[in-house]
Amino acid sequence: MLVDSHCHLEYKGLIEDQAGVLARARAAGVGAMLNISTRQSEWDQVIATAAREADVYASVGIHPHEADAHRDLGRGALLAATQHPRVIAIGETGLDYYYDHSDREAQKTLFRMHISVARETGLPLIIHTRDAEEDTYAILAEEQGEGAFPALIHCFTASADFAEKVLALGLFISLSGIVTFKNAKALQEVAKIIPEDRLLIETDSPFLAPVPHRGRVCEPAYVADTARFLASLRGTDAETLAAQTSANFFALFGKARA
Ligand SMILES: [Zn+2]
Ligand SMILES: [Zn+2]
Repeated sequence: MLVDSHCHLEYKGLIEDQAGVLARARAAGVGAMLNISTRQSEWDQVIATAAREADVYASVGIHPHEADAHRDLGRGALLAATQHPRVIAIGETGLDYYYDHSDREAQKTLFRMHISVARETGLPLIIHTRDAEEDTYAILAEEQGEGAFPALIHCFTASADFAEKVLALGLFISLSGIVTFKNAKALQEVAKIIPEDRLLIETDSPFLAPVPHRGRVCEPAYVADTARFLASLRGTDAETLAAQTSANFFALFGKARA
């Protein structure tokens, strides 16, 4: 069995034929998918899909791009949304200084709010970080000092140094189809050093289709291609890697087991 730990099933490209997308994922051996929200207006939709489909789970949160538009989001609203039985994670949240679509201070404030809800609920935090390693690590280290919370870095593209530092904090790391790209040599080196019990895989679909699907709309079925690539990169076989990353998913996202 494979798990796609991060997809956007409500996004354009997947929503038009969501039933077909899910059927192709199941046929490819994908046994669970985590459907991620990026805005408060998406929460009802990701939860509804998870409530309808036994192998789809939901995450509630605000993407750093959307921080400016959610300055008035109260902590209570996020906390309340996490109470739904199909919501197993908080995010995606974090910092994105590559696009800078939202004010950096607003991103940081919202990131810390998500952390505080993760700490209170015990639900893992799904972190998006781009060109913001220093601030991401500083906030994580400081907040872990205030009280532990489970977390993963999704669609990891940062440095080996950052990987080692967040692993030392106890975080998991999820790799997307980017690792299969020919120009991703540095990331492929990082992929070799992630301990087998801290590794997850994802598509971040509809974005980032892995080799050999580049240029197409990405979908959860393609997590199988990333798994095959990673297995050969790490000197293991695809079945072992699939079983290990699936076990890691359920170890981190304990609410999915319930
Ligand atoms: Zn992201
Ligand atoms: Zn995403």
